[in-house]
Amino acid sequence: MEKIILVIISNIDSRYVTALKAILETTFDRGVEISYQIGDLKYAYDHTRNQYLSPRLLSRLRRIKKASNDKLMAVTNLDLYSPGYDFIYGEADVKAGLATLSINRLMGSTADGLPDTCLFTERIIREAVHEVGHLYGLVHCKNPKCVMRTCTCAAEVDEAGNGLCDGCLHTLNANLT
Ligand SMILES: [Zn+2]
Ligand SMILES: [Zn+2]
Repeated sequence: MEKIILVIISNIDSRYVTALKAILETTFDRGVEISYQIGDLKYAYDHTRNQYLSPRLLSRLRRIKKASNDKLMAVTNLDLYSPGYDFIYGEADVKAGLATLSINRLMGSTADGLPDTCLFTERIIREAVHEVGHLYGLVHCKNPKCVMRTCTCAAEVDEAGNGLCDGCLHTLNANLT
């Protein structure tokens, strides 16, 4: 059976990687493999914006993808953008089975200004399920509490707290069989 491969392309705390692996395995009923490919990302860097161009990361993934049915998602803490957007949390090339995920803008803080790792983990999980959801045929959802809604800011990511709505879950289950 095909699997989901998380390609970790920059340093990310292993607890987030572990959390992602667990939630993706449960949600998509597929094995999740972790592949550390931390290296020079100069090829994707845009110094006029001090951001990394997501489509270039997708091109790189296209070259490293071996089994044609596997889904690959590059995960980074770097700030990503795509033409037409100020920044993106992630991007999917559905046809190729490839996605990117940036956790850069998902960090939250507690009332006393400390990093809120629980909130951070929840947001990362939601965005990861969203991008991998696209790879399994889900499209954007109008339900504001569903993770397949479009999110342009962290408050919207927080609102999407109910996982996949019944409609998206139904579509996913049909697509997974
Ligand atoms: Zn989307
Ligand atoms: Zn939905």
